[in-house]
Amino acid sequence: MNRLKELRRERGLTLKKLSEQIGIPVPTLSNYENSNRETKADTWLRFAEFFEVDVPYLQGLPLTRWLYCPHCGKRQHFENDLENLQGIVRCENCKESFRYSISFMYESEKM
Ligand SMILES: [Zn+2]
Repeated sequence: MNRLKELRRERGLTLKKLSEQIGIPVPTLSNYENSNRETKADTWLRFAEFFEVDVPYLQGLPLTRWLYCPHCGKRQHFENDLENLQGIVRCENCKESFRYSISFMYESEKM
């Protein structure tokens, strides 16, 4: 299940309001929300940009991130269920714990 409906409700938008703002007809939006329709890559991007989130997040997928341990510098694979955007993980290499925080807004990449 994708997160379109959840994000729309978070923003306090009705289907009609979102339709007006994003330029996609209400029935089409409704189909996207209910995953009744194959959503094209460029449509996902449009939603991602609108809601300022990652496409995988929109699609309801867990995100895999690479984190660097601040103690030993080892890069490791980390799966985020997206419920916890920050927390503490333990390095597989040096066993030290460190704090992480994940942001879905690529502010530095936005011009
Ligand atoms: Zn480490």
